[in-house]
Amino acid sequence: MADPPDPAMVSPALGAGAGADVDVDVYLALGANLGDRRRQIDDATARLDAAGVAIAARSPIYETDAVSDEPQPPYLNAVVRATTALPPEALLALCLDIERALGRVRPPGRDKAPRTLDLDVLLYGARVIDTPALTVPHPAMLARAFVRVPLADVAAPGLRHPITGDPLDRSPPSPAVRRFRDSGGA
Ligand code: ADP
Ligand code: MG
Repeated sequence: MADPPDPAMVSPALGAGAGADVDVDVYLALGANLGDRRRQIDDATARLDAAGVAIAARSPIYETDAVSDEPQPPYLNAVVRATTALPPEALLALCLDIERALGRVRPPGRDKAPRTLDLDVLLYGARVIDTPALTVPHPAMLARAFVRVPLADVAAPGLRHPITGDPLDRSPPSPAVRRFRDSGGA
């Protein structure tokens, strides 16, 4: 078996950028159901890109009904595919920072409270991570049509769930997940 390449030799030659190790493909889910939902999703995408999470593709934006016992406004949802050299913990910290910057508040005891931005790590390459702060693949991703539909839009061909093997590059259409007007997408 070949030895792994020496990063000192690989980085400059491949233009990986100062301080970068190996870029990893990551998938992130964005959701918003308070405030200017569209603007917050656009802003979050730009902030990720500016902070070392290079956006390769963003799904169209979908409007979905909130999954919650308390009545609340509908969500806009999207998924991005990106590459980053940030380690998983730093990527999560960045996501939480961006949520705060865009006005997310977390009322105690209300897990499902409406939010200006929810930014979740769905996949970090094929890594399986289970720490108190971070679970990857995101534990609810397979069950959520509002994740599966936009994920299928941007998934690399043949992408599969690292634990279950479920195909992620296709998803049955769901009447609960509707293309948002002017949704764009890349
Ligand atoms: P949810 O997204 O399930 O509605 P929150 O956005 O309130 O929940 O996140 C609560 C906590 O979930 C975060 O503080 C974070 O530490 C933890 N968490 C665990 N795994 C992940 C993940 N893959 N992506 C985002 N947050 C995660
Ligand atoms: Mg979250």
